[in-house]
Amino acid sequence: MKALYPGSFDPITYGHLDVLQRARKVFDQLTVAVVENPRKAPLFSAQERRRLVEESLREVGIDDVPVIVYSGLLIECAKQLGVVAIVRGLRATSDFDYEFQMALTNRDLDSDIETVFFMTAGRYSFLSSSIVKEVKRYGGDVSKFVPRCVERALAEKFGLPR
Ligand code: ADP
Repeated sequence: MKALYPGSFDPITYGHLDVLQRARKVFDQLTVAVVENPRKAPLFSAQERRRLVEESLREVGIDDVPVIVYSGLLIECAKQLGVVAIVRGLRATSDFDYEFQMALTNRDLDSDIETVFFMTAGRYSFLSSSIVKEVKRYGGDVSKFVPRCVERALAEKFGLPR
């Protein structure tokens, strides 16, 4: 069974990777889609985010998860790839309302594709890309939250020593 894991990944964190590793145990084939979301002004371009996801996957030894960039309607991407499920991660309750709305909308658009949620490990349940950017912007240590390649890319973006 194939699944799609979409997100902004601006940038990818160990929380995203935790969900990805759990989903990989359940689905035979997983694809990551870096989504261009017009509602958000990302720090990294879509291509930079894709490259960071690819490098992070290499850092944790995963070599069978393709990464694509997608800018259209997510459900169309899912249909084109022929997946049975869209994977999303759940942290604390704050994710629920938005995820519930998205999942039901996507089900209305295509009732054959299920949205499947994975709970992240407790230690990542308050971790977000936004928090990582805030901490790093002011020179804080984010090594517990993101892979080395992401730490380096953030340092470069904020003009900090690597
Ligand atoms: P989006 O803009 O689509 O919400 P994100 O990159 O913020 O993109 O998140 C992608 C998915 O990963 C979402 O389902 C989100 O809830 C999940 N996610 C983000 N951070 C974590 C984390 N620390 N633990 C588990 N899931 C997470």
